[in-house]
Amino acid sequence: MSRARRSVFAPGVAALATLLLGGCLALRPVALGDRSLSVAGTSSGWLHRGARLADRGPHFERARPGEPTRGGVPGLVTALERASSDVEHAFPGGMPLRIGDLASPTGGRHSRHRSHRSGRDVDILYYLMSPTGVPVEPRGRVAFSRFGVAPDPETGEIVVFDDARNWQLVRSLLTDPSLEVQWIFCSRGVKSRLLRHALATEPDRALLARAAYVLAQPANAAPHDDHFHVRVLCTREETALGCRDVAPIWPWLRAARDPDEAADPYDDRHLLELLAAPPP
Ligand SMILES: [Zn+2]
Repeated sequence: MSRARRSVFAPGVAALATLLLGGCLALRPVALGDRSLSVAGTSSGWLHRGARLADRGPHFERARPGEPTRGGVPGLVTALERASSDVEHAFPGGMPLRIGDLASPTGGRHSRHRSHRSGRDVDILYYLMSPTGVPVEPRGRVAFSRFGVAPDPETGEIVVFDDARNWQLVRSLLTDPSLEVQWIFCSRGVKSRLLRHALATEPDRALLARAAYVLAQPANAAPHDDHFHVRVLCTREETALGCRDVAPIWPWLRAARDPDEAADPYDDRHLLELLAAPPP
């Protein structure tokens, strides 16, 4: 959705237009009212009455406090707050989770991002620690190889990727009932570190398998060796009102949505569909 078009239609009116022009004669105008709605795609849509992440909470802080790129679907904002608390409770004494951009309050095009338009994307900096295991605050861009060690851009001191806290963050997001995570973009090196850590520590093996799907280095973007980019799916209600996901919808999520899928969620047909899906 271009800015020119959005300047003509207020977001709610544009959502209505999407519904009316959506090609389904059965659709009638829907009063969106106060409900939050992610509209269209993550690189083309916008956000109607999204939630706003506070500058800081008990266990998180925004990387750009005071700046307006804080809009998201309510489930995502809630999950970020909850995940940061989960990590602190599992591993007390850590630094606050540093959360980067979500979407503008009404979504749409953003100067720093191609996606981040419909409230379903968020950037999160990795948890870091010193070589002796003391949590340290991320300052500037710290890019990790698969070895999980990098120089602090300000001090030059070595910082280490905190496997335990970062896995706890992933685990919390993947198990949160308020959202369905489609992707957690990160570099291949970071993914392999997280899965290796989870293999040794994670009792829920199904969760480990899900993480192997969801953690991914994006095909047509930066490798994400310095932060996570989390993307969540439209809710079923949003989908009915014009929110659009791009494949894949993972087998366990389809099984949760449709009981008929539960019978064989991991068969060859699903695997082939996943392999045939276009890269993110
Ligand atoms: Zn991002």
